[in-house]
Amino acid sequence: MPDLPPVPGPSGAPGARGGGTAVRLTGRGVSRGLAAGPVMRMAAPPVLPAPRPVRDAAAETALAAEALEAVAAGLRDRAAAATGDAAEILDALAMMAGDPMLREEAEQGVRDGLGAAHALDAAFTRHREAIAALGGYLAERAADLDDLRHRAVAFALGVPMPGLPSPGHPYVLAAEDLSPADTAGLGPDVLALVTEKGGPTSHTAILARGRGLPAVVACPGVMDLADGTYVSVDGATGEVTAGISHEEAVRARERDRRERERLAASSGPGRTADGHPVKLLLNIGSAADLRPGGEGVGLFRTEFLFLDRGLAPSFDEQVAAYAAVFARVPHVVVRTLDAGTDKPLPFLGLPPEHNPALGIRGLRVDRVLPDVLDTQLDAIAEAARRTGAEAWVMAPMVATRDEAAAFAARARARGVARVGVMVEVPAAALLADRILAEVDFLSVGTNDLSQYTFAADRQHPALTDLLDPAQPALLRLVAACAEAGLAAGKPVGVCGEAAGDPALAPVLAGLGVTSLSMAPVCVPVVRDALARHTLGECRSLAATALS
Ligand code: PEP
Ligand code: MG
Repeated sequence: MPDLPPVPGPSGAPGARGGGTAVRLTGRGVSRGLAAGPVMRMAAPPVLPAPRPVRDAAAETALAAEALEAVAAGLRDRAAAATGDAAEILDALAMMAGDPMLREEAEQGVRDGLGAAHALDAAFTRHREAIAALGGYLAERAADLDDLRHRAVAFALGVPMPGLPSPGHPYVLAAEDLSPADTAGLGPDVLALVTEKGGPTSHTAILARGRGLPAVVACPGVMDLADGTYVSVDGATGEVTAGISHEEAVRARERDRRERERLAASSGPGRTADGHPVKLLLNIGSAADLRPGGEGVGLFRTEFLFLDRGLAPSFDEQVAAYAAVFARVPHVVVRTLDAGTDKPLPFLGLPPEHNPALGIRGLRVDRVLPDVLDTQLDAIAEAARRTGAEAWVMAPMVATRDEAAAFAARARARGVARVGVMVEVPAAALLADRILAEVDFLSVGTNDLSQYTFAADRQHPALTDLLDPAQPALLRLVAACAEAGLAAGKPVGVCGEAAGDPALAPVLAGLGVTSLSMAPVCVPVVRDALARHTLGECRSLAATALS
C-alpha cells in the first residue's frame, strides 16, 4: 500500500485542510470498501473563447482533423495498456473519435466560417443530438461523446486536456461526473471515486465494482473541497467525511486492508452460520469475466457477446463462445438472448418501439424471429455436449405459464438438461407455482422485477428509492417464488444486483432462496454476510423486511 503524502500546511494547496472540523457529505455508495486520502479534483472541461474570424481555413481544417486523431490515438494507447472491459470501452471510444462523419462535420464547420475548436464543438453537438434521438442504449452513448468533445476542443485550443490528475501519490478522485474513458483508465494511485452526478447503473458504478474500488456517486459538495483535503470514503454507506487528519486516514486504510484480507481468506461454498447451503454463483457476460471463488455461473448474459453486431452470430461462433465458458466452469446457467430497451441487438433488425421496456424484448423476440432462439438453443446444447458441462438454460422476460411451457418444450427437444425461466415480471412471480410446474428452476431478476413492480425505469437516476430491492413489495414477490420452489422441491435463485448486496443476502436466504448470483467481486462479502447468521436469524430478518 503506497504512502499517503502529509497533510499540507498553510502553504499547501489553497484551502487544503486536514485534522480540523470534519465535514460530512452524503452520496450513494455504489461500490463497497473504505478508503481515505487526499482528494484531487478532475480538470474542468475547456471553455470556448468568443469566436474570431478565420484567416487560414486550411490550417483550421487540419487542426480539427489533428485534434480528432490525437484524441483517438490517446484512447488507443490507453486501450493497449488496459485489459478486459476497460480495454474494450477505450477501443470503442477511440473508434467514435475516429468516425469519419465527425471529421466531415468539423470540416463543414470550418467551411461555414468557424475556427477548429468551434467547428469541433458544433460537430460533436450535432453528432450528440443525432445519437440521443435514437433513444435506448445508443442515447446513453451520447454522454460518451461529451468526453471526446472536451478532449478534442482542448487540443484545438492548446489548453491542458481535461482528465485525471497525476499528483504522484495515492488520492481520492473527485469529479462532477466521470466518463467511461476516465473510469476505464484509472491508475493504481486512485484510492476511491466520488462524483457529484451519476447513478448506481452508470458506467462509473459498474466499472468501479468490477475493480473493487470504493465509489460514491450523487454526492453534492465534493467538488467544493480543495485539492489535498483529507477525506474518508465509505463505498457501502455513501458517506464521505472531509477534513480528517493524516493519522485518521492511515488508520482507515489499515482497517480496510485488514477487512479485505479477512474476506479474501474466506473460501468455500455459501453457508449460513448453522450450515444451511445457499449457492454463491457468478454473473458474467463472457469467459473473460470469470474469476475464481463462486460455485458456478448463475447468469451468463449471452446478449453481451453480441451487442455491437450488425450480423447475426453464426451457430459455430455461438458454440465457441459458450464452450469457452463451459470448459472452465462445470455448472453454468445460460440465459438466452435478452434483447431490447437498454440492450438492443442491431443484428435482430427490430423496428423502434414507443415503449420498448414494455415491448418486444427478451423471450418476446421469439414471437417475431423464432429462428434466433432455435439456433441459440442448438448452440448451447452442442457446446454442453462438447465440454461435458452441466448447462442449464433460462429465458428472460417470461410472463405466463404458456410462455414457460413453450420455452421448456423447445429447449428439452434440443437436449438441454435443465430448463428454467427468469422471474422479472410481477405476473410471473404471482404465478410462480404454475410456472414451476413447467420448468426445473426459477431465477429472480430483481433489476427488472423492481422496474416492473414499481413502474420505475431502472436507468432513471431520480427513482433509485423506488428501485431499491429491499422494498417489501418486491420482497413479497421474491418470497412467493421461493415458497413455490420449496413446495415443488425445485431451486429458486436470485440473479439481480440484490443478490450481491451483503445486507440483503441473509434476507433472501431467509425467504428461502437457494442461490445468489452476483458480480464476482461481491462473492467474498456475501459469503461472509451469510456465515454471520443462522438460518433462523435469516428467517426473522426476512420476516422483518417483509413487514
Ligand atoms: C435482472 O433483470 O435482474 C437481470 C439479472 O437481468 P438484466 O439485469 O440483465 O436485465
Ligand atoms: Mg433483466
